[in-house]
Amino acid sequence: MSRLAGKIALITGGSSGIGLAAARAFLAEGAARVYITGRRSAELNAAATALGDRVIAIQGDVTNQADLDRVMDRVASQDGKLDIVFANAGFAAPAALGSLTDDHIDGLLGTNVKGVIWTVQKALPLMRSGGSIILTSSIVGSKGFGTWSIYSATKAAVRSFARTWASDLRGQNIRVNAVSPGVIETPAYDNMYESKDQARGFFDFAASITPMARTGSDDEVAKVVAFLASDDSSFVNASELFVDGGIAQI
Ligand code: NAP
Repeated sequence: MSRLAGKIALITGGSSGIGLAAARAFLAEGAARVYITGRRSAELNAAATALGDRVIAIQGDVTNQADLDRVMDRVASQDGKLDIVFANAGFAAPAALGSLTDDHIDGLLGTNVKGVIWTVQKALPLMRSGGSIILTSSIVGSKGFGTWSIYSATKAAVRSFARTWASDLRGQNIRVNAVSPGVIETPAYDNMYESKDQARGFFDFAASITPMARTGSDDEVAKVVAFLASDDSSFVNASELFVDGGIAQI
């Protein structure tokens, strides 16, 4: 299919997991250019090489506004516009109420909330009528799993941005939607658990509470993101699409 033929896309956190899968999906749908960002140069450049010559890697940290300015300058000088912004960079970390610290709170808010705000605001001047902004929220934004309060709050904020920014931008015909993955087995979990058995136990539990009794894959999330990026979803705005246990739900 070529639903994204000719379109120019930016994906933050495009070197791994969901962002990398979205880059693959955008290319498969005919995107003319996909810019990917991430902090670690080696991983980012390896991803860009594997994805091919329609991809441009720009190292940058979404918590650093100067980095984001550099990203947008590069897009402006190379292509002069953005049709799709997938503000996806983020991370998860647990901490129970009673053990919360400034570092934990500031780290999560800085990347998952402020990083999304600056990414979208700085990309906006490059966007045109018909543009699509997709934000990565999470099912935890509307659930109550213990030890995940701050991460969950960041994702609830992101989900809220999809509604409010869609209102802010309706006069410009730019849509804003959120994708809310359930548990997706990505490298994000590589260092989260002490052993592979512990991680497997978590994935098995996560699978057991989904309708399809399995965890999801990054490619499944990417298909939903590609749909939201395409003109096929021009009637979808301010929405949240869940991708949990391999099925998409509104
Ligand atoms: P991942 O495989 O760890 O990928 C995260 C990506 O974000 C990497 O490219 C990483 O590259 C980049 N990144 C992290 N912090 C960054 C920063 N400050 N500036 C720029 N880039 C940054 O994780 P994932 O599972 O694909 O997660 C992607 C998004 O999905 C996150 O927002 C996450 O919260 C959300 N999500 C994940 C799941 C899940 O179960 N996997 C479920 C719901 C929501 P560098 O480390 O090199 O910067």
